[in-house]
This record gives sequence, structure tokens and C-alpha cells, in this order.
Amino acid sequence: MNKKHYTGLIDRYRSILPIAENCKVISLCEGDTPLVQANNLEQVNQRDIKLYLKFEGLNPTGSFKDRGMTVAVTQAVSEGSRAIICASTGNTSASAAAYAARAGIKAFVLIPDGKIAMGKLAQAMMHGATIIQICGNFDDGMRLVKEVAEEAPVSIVNSINPYRLQGQKTAAYEIVEALGRAPDFHCIPVGNAGNISAHWTGYSELAASDGHNVTEACGFCNGECQFISTPIATTKPKMLGYQAAGAAPFMHGKAIDNPETVATAIRIGHPQSWDYAQAAVKESTGWFNSFSDEQILATQKLLSAKEGIFCEPASATSVTGALHDIEKGNIPNGSIVVCTLTGHGLKDPDIAIKQSNTELINIDDAQLDSVKRAILDNL
Ligand SMILES: *Cc1c(COP(=O)(O)O)cnc(C)c1O
Repeated sequence: MNKKHYTGLIDRYRSILPIAENCKVISLCEGDTPLVQANNLEQVNQRDIKLYLKFEGLNPTGSFKDRGMTVAVTQAVSEGSRAIICASTGNTSASAAAYAARAGIKAFVLIPDGKIAMGKLAQAMMHGATIIQICGNFDDGMRLVKEVAEEAPVSIVNSINPYRLQGQKTAAYEIVEALGRAPDFHCIPVGNAGNISAHWTGYSELAASDGHNVTEACGFCNGECQFISTPIATTKPKMLGYQAAGAAPFMHGKAIDNPETVATAIRIGHPQSWDYAQAAVKESTGWFNSFSDEQILATQKLLSAKEGIFCEPASATSVTGALHDIEKGNIPNGSIVVCTLTGHGLKDPDIAIKQSNTELINIDDAQLDSVKRAILDNL
């Protein structure tokens, strides 16, 4: 195999991950996701802002959860675990199910009754997870998972598992490598608040290492790739954590009990990484904000229609916030901004079709003339 062939983020970033030398790596070649510059958003171009979309929907199971899962499942297997468990709004269960299948171990997933996107449920089913649907929301599931793991031989792979956040911090490394520096602002959707915490860890490590970490990080090419040529000394971005208005505990300053939003991936009222996320925002002098479901869905559509990037509703929250803060001047002209797009739009086709307003043109024959007329009428 070509030695530059990408083999996943543990091979790529082993030197900065808590992975033992000889353990069997459970990977689906996750990570190495594209950082796409948004070229067509007026709000951005008018203000000379460089806005980049880190499209985490292109991970193997369609969300950033895979970054954490490869490390968490590799560790669980190396400790002899035969089963993993998680509570999930959907993407964690899809990812856990896939990595468990890869590892040949069992996955148990607790999901909220009726509030999970169909694509995610399909993934968990196909990968052979045991799916336990509870009459409760994600927060209830999280509580139950913590309790049951005390009594049954299962490893928790939610983001309270520190290996998850270690894996997820690699996204910050990839961004700094791609830009040659850290962005000025990093915008990210916040649900359970693990990902904002993981990114802050990554950026903080990079800043503390004077670029040393980035040059060292490349374990898979023996120093022949672009990443190793120059150390990247970097600053840290302001972390901007955005929530859905109906599920915005960080805006209320405390946990909430009945979170509601169309963005099911962030329908969480009791974030497990509360303290880490608060610290990330405070230390970086960033902020939290929240947006309505209508605003979030409008951004999802805008990105699909203007940039060709189809993310799931929760993911669009980051860009909703970025555009808001650009318009308000909170993000100054000339800034470099990265928005994490956490998951792929195909996860939730129901919401997409419902909100798209696209009318199908029905032709009641199969004749050239009819098709030609339909095209000329709509040019
Ligand atoms: C998990 C998830 C989030 C929220 O991430 P946290 O780490 O829980 O804050 C956002 N968007 C998508 C698509 C997710 O799957």
C-alpha cells in the first residue's frame, strides 16, 4: 500500500492520542474531512470574511462522532470490553454501532422514543446494534446509561468517556494544518457540549506546543508529507457555541428539563460537558447564542442551495450563528472563521423534504415535447 494512503486518525495522530503502542486499532478511516471555503454567501463576501466549513458529515458514518468513537472503541477493546453502550440523539448510536461491528463486539444504544432521524436509526439497525427505545429524551437516556454501566459489563462510549474527546480534538489539528494557522473564530453547534470542549483542547494544545505538535503529529508518512515541513505556531480562536432556542441551557445558565427543537442532534437540556464548555468559551473570550428552528432550517437550505453542501439541521446552527454575528459586527470584517458542520443532511431526509418547498413538475406522458416545455418554462 502507498505509504501516504490515509488510514484513519489514530494512525495519523497517534503521538497526541492516549493509545497504547501495541493495541489493535479499530478504524474506518475517519477524519481528514474537507475544509471548504464558502464562496457564495453575500454576508461573508461583503465583509471580506473568510468563512470555512469543516464538513464533518463526510466521516464514515456521516458525523464527527466517528473521531471520538475510533479512540473510545479502540481503548474499550484493548481493555477487554465485549460490549459498549451509549445514549444517543442518533449519531452516537450510528457511530457506536458501526465501530462495534468493526470490532466484533456488541453495541447497546438507548434512543428517545420517536425523536431520532430515520437515517440514523437505519444505520444502528443495519450495523446490528441492540436498540432500546425509551419513553424519555436524551437526558433520561444518559442518566440510565450511567446507572446501568455500574451494574452490567458494558463500556460507556458517550462523550463523558474521555477517549471520545481526545479523538474529537483532532479536528482542530486538521483545521490548523489546512489553514496554516488557527482561525480567529470557531463556530460550533452545542448539544451535550463535548465537541466544543474537544476543539478547545486541540487548539490549546497546539498553542501551547509552539507548533511542535503539528510537526510531530504525522505518524503515517515518515515525514514526507506537507504536514511535517514547518512547525505551525498558532494562536487560539474565540469559541462560539450556538444552540437551538428550545434547547439552550447555556443561554439560561442552567440545565433545562424539556428541550425541544427540530435539530434533534442538539435536543439536550442537561449537557454532560457543562464545565468544560463554559471554560472553553470563557478562556477564549467567546460566547454562546441561540437561534430559532426557523433560522436554523433557513441556513440549512441556504448552504444546500448556495454552496452545494447538505448538512443536517443541527449542523446549520453553527453557520446561523456565524452569519448573525457577522451581521451584528461581533465578528469583525477581515476575520477568518471556521464553522463545524457536524453531520450530513442525508441523515434526516424527512425534515429536508418537508422544508424544501420544491414542487415536482409532473408530466402526464413520457414525450420529448413535454420535457422540453418543462425545461424552457423553467430556465
Ligand atoms: C452530537 C452532535 C452535535 C452536538 O455535539 P455535542 O458534542 O453533543 O455538543 C451536533 N450536531 C450533530 C450532527 C451531532 O451529531
